[in-house]
Amino acid sequence: MMVFFTTVQGFASPCNNREVVSADLQPYKYNGKELDKMHGLNTCDYGARQYYSILGRWDRVDPLAEKYYPYSPYVYCANNPVNAIDPDGRTINILYYRDGKIYKYKFDGEIRGNEPNNAFLKDFLVAYKYNTDNGGGESMKAVATNLKIEVNLMQSKSGKSFYYYEYGEQKISWGSRKGLITSEGGFQSPATILEHEFTHALHHAMDGPSYRRRKETGLSKYKNAEEKKVITGAESKTAKANGESIRKDHLSDPNNVFQRFKTTSSGIIEEYYVTNNKGEETIILTK
Ligand SMILES: [Zn+2]
Repeated sequence: MMVFFTTVQGFASPCNNREVVSADLQPYKYNGKELDKMHGLNTCDYGARQYYSILGRWDRVDPLAEKYYPYSPYVYCANNPVNAIDPDGRTINILYYRDGKIYKYKFDGEIRGNEPNNAFLKDFLVAYKYNTDNGGGESMKAVATNLKIEVNLMQSKSGKSFYYYEYGEQKISWGSRKGLITSEGGFQSPATILEHEFTHALHHAMDGPSYRRRKETGLSKYKNAEEKKVITGAESKTAKANGESIRKDHLSDPNNVFQRFKTTSSGIIEEYYVTNNKGEETIILTK
């Protein structure tokens, strides 16, 4: 029995291969992760954190610890590595409807041109490309490529965009054709609003306790400290990169403004259609 235990100590003893003496041996072990032997640490590099396979534990709290709070902040796969795998992350799950069915498209930050033909999915890809080509969209890029973050994105029924957390999942509801008019009468595109929501998701995933603390800190102009951090941070950067207005509060009501946009064949947004609540439409040309 002792022999058995020394072989399968932890969940991942192959990673912690103490027999390895040759530097020529390839360093990618259990789950294809690199074994970091520096200073005798012998931990596996999982990107967001290091895994200590002797104990079958991480060396720091899971960024999504609250997803597994009934277990431990130091486990993964809900402490069931036999039946579950650590998804490699890199995921924005775009949920879309077709013929009454719901489909999921996993987006890893790469636009390949062979994506399923769906209006909502296309709106997302256009917005992603628009933000990132202009030098913005850093939060959405981070979520798409971060090894530990998974966010579900779906079309907002009301058209209003918001980030929320439900049944242990991070979700964004996005009105892909809806922009907003700022308090000063400027405008922001659906692409910039999407970056706003992804920034909430990123904050929540990276540091849940701080995210919640900021949400509970009320601020009159910005609603709360989390909104202020998002609006004055990543949102402003992306709005600026897109040539749009920068918000100085969280008071604008996006409910009475609908926006469409027209893109060139290469996905660059060239025209916005802003409609006020009287139904009057204005075309705004970009650049
Ligand atoms: Zn917000």
